[in-house]
Amino acid sequence: MSTVAFAFTVDVEGAWQDLPQEQANFDPAPITAAVELLEAEISRLEVFFSKKIPVTWFFRCDDSVAHSMGCQEGLLLHFREFIERRKNCGDAFGLHPHFYKLSDNSSSGWDIETSPEGQRTLLLRAASAWIRFFNEAPTLSRMGESIMSSTIAQTLDEIGIRVDATALSGRERKGDGFFVNWVGAPHRPYKPYKKDYRIAANIENASFRFTEVPFSMLPLLAPYDKEPLLRYFNLAYNPAIVKAGLCHLKNRHAFVTVVHPHEVYSNQQPGPLVTFQIGAIQKNIVNVASEFGDIRFCTLLDKVFKNVR
Ligand SMILES: [Zn+2]
Repeated sequence: MSTVAFAFTVDVEGAWQDLPQEQANFDPAPITAAVELLEAEISRLEVFFSKKIPVTWFFRCDDSVAHSMGCQEGLLLHFREFIERRKNCGDAFGLHPHFYKLSDNSSSGWDIETSPEGQRTLLLRAASAWIRFFNEAPTLSRMGESIMSSTIAQTLDEIGIRVDATALSGRERKGDGFFVNWVGAPHRPYKPYKKDYRIAANIENASFRFTEVPFSMLPLLAPYDKEPLLRYFNLAYNPAIVKAGLCHLKNRHAFVTVVHPHEVYSNQQPGPLVTFQIGAIQKNIVNVASEFGDIRFCTLLDKVFKNVR
């Protein structure tokens, strides 16, 4: 059997059921509790698989974090000890800004920032905050709600990002706080074409410098779907539903998975797709191993995700 690279990524942020308002009232307590649970589970999985599991953590760092935590890097400061500890485990850390702005109508809270210049300003501010915390520019990133544009891509190059892991290849989603169009994007890491970030550029000077690393995308049939919908590989999803989609995977050599802290809280009722059960993670990884081969856990800075053309 072959070996498959497996990126275990975590977006460290609040619950996402009510975008964008809940992200504005940022409460670090439930995030901390869930991240601790997740860290303990990762240690347990390392014993189960007899392997180190380096994790890629994307931390919210943006204006709405500043609104509830005093500064854009507030969540990073809150997790300082955790970050130091996990650095020593070989983990990687990425910038995860959400593009929210205070509503012009102050009574209605937060809106999604949709203007390219507004998004650019938010992104630059987030990167500055990252530098204040880490004393170095971010090299990894994931944009909130998978937003991308040529202005954002250009700005990622300016910041010095080497790997961006935002793409939901094949997916278009508009409404409910989403403005996403990744139709036609490759199902493998690629250098985005400057004129269209969804296309792999085949000439060096026509591409952005950063590599775009798409999520592993699976056609999944949730109980409430009429037909399968292309979704990212979320480790908290119901393993039986994920298993049924695995045979349709386009890229079987390098997996990019994600989980959000609140999705593994076991004190919530299991949902039809998101289980809210920590045990789903192990089952989903075991299913990949039995279907595709021996797993090699790595971060998104591993050469398998960077050396592309
Ligand atoms: Zn997010």
